Amino acid sequence: MKLDLHRHLEGSHSATALLAVAREHDLRDPLFYDASAARWRTPAELSADVTMAGPTDDATVFYGCIVKARAAYVSVAAIGSLARHAFREAADETDGCELRVSLFSMTRTLIERQGHAWRDVTPTAFADTYARPVLAAVLAARDEVAAATGKTLLVRLGLSRTFESEPHYRALAAVIRDHAAALVGLDVLGIVTGADTEPLPPALVAILDDLRPVLPDLTIHAGEFAGHASVDRTLALSPRGIGHGVHALESAATLDRLLRDGVTLEVCPTSNRLLIPTALAALERAHGGMTPLRALQHAGVHCVLGSDDPTPMGTSFAREWQLAGDLGVDRARVEADAARRWAELT
Ligand SMILES: [Zn+2]
Repeated sequence: MKLDLHRHLEGSHSATALLAVAREHDLRDPLFYDASAARWRTPAELSADVTMAGPTDDATVFYGCIVKARAAYVSVAAIGSLARHAFREAADETDGCELRVSLFSMTRTLIERQGHAWRDVTPTAFADTYARPVLAAVLAARDEVAAATGKTLLVRLGLSRTFESEPHYRALAAVIRDHAAALVGLDVLGIVTGADTEPLPPALVAILDDLRPVLPDLTIHAGEFAGHASVDRTLALSPRGIGHGVHALESAATLDRLLRDGVTLEVCPTSNRLLIPTALAALERAHGGMTPLRALQHAGVHCVLGSDDPTPMGTSFAREWQLAGDLGVDRARVEADAARRWAELT
């Protein structure tokens, strides 16, 4: 079974899908439409704008690609259409997958695209007028593609550690609670600059605690931009999975704890190569040239494979699978660990 267990909806809008939705909704944004030539741009032209050119330690380059693709978030219908394409593309190249939905940022973008400042929208209106239909559209798209393809497609609700407004996140939590039965769990995600690149704001943790009785399976991005201490801090919240977590390799004690708690690391080789090239090289040097996924397997830690953000990273799950083999990863063990994790989720 080829299971993609770390993939983001916002990073899964292919150039083909973006252009299809742009045409469908007549979005003549310069990203999609070349006004001087009076024609729609081609997928190859658009790909160059929404895909990273190469590795860089500057995460804002990646984020810039994500922001560009959000130009298509003009309405709930457009978001639903983009989600349908993303689920279809994921279903076509896997036997099953889990997509993470960053509901706050999608909602905020929709409000901005409709000409309003999101901070002027009350938390209740933010949640009920905008976020609720966005989540319903994403889940309807998932259900439609799952029925059409026969694949199991899981949706995880991501809350960002950027944590722009506690009242807005609190209102979102009520929407999430209402849709808990259609979701597989919670995730903490988001790129933060500053001294602490992987913060866990206490008020965000309190919201997670409130939601966990209805959504117990928690994953957290950690040990990607920050060191093993970030993984240690994350483990205090008892997650079932950690996004990336490759810096756990810096500490035998952290590896032991991952093993003892049965926590699964979701490793994304191309993402690491593009987003944390310097840290990746250091980890490889410290482990005899082994790629982190292989070194983590050596340490006995459960690891699954993910494509993370296929569009900005110019990859696919199939490509990650091939790459893992090229890097000497034990793919039979990845499959076994993925099956183990899948059994926890389905
Ligand atoms: Zn991720």
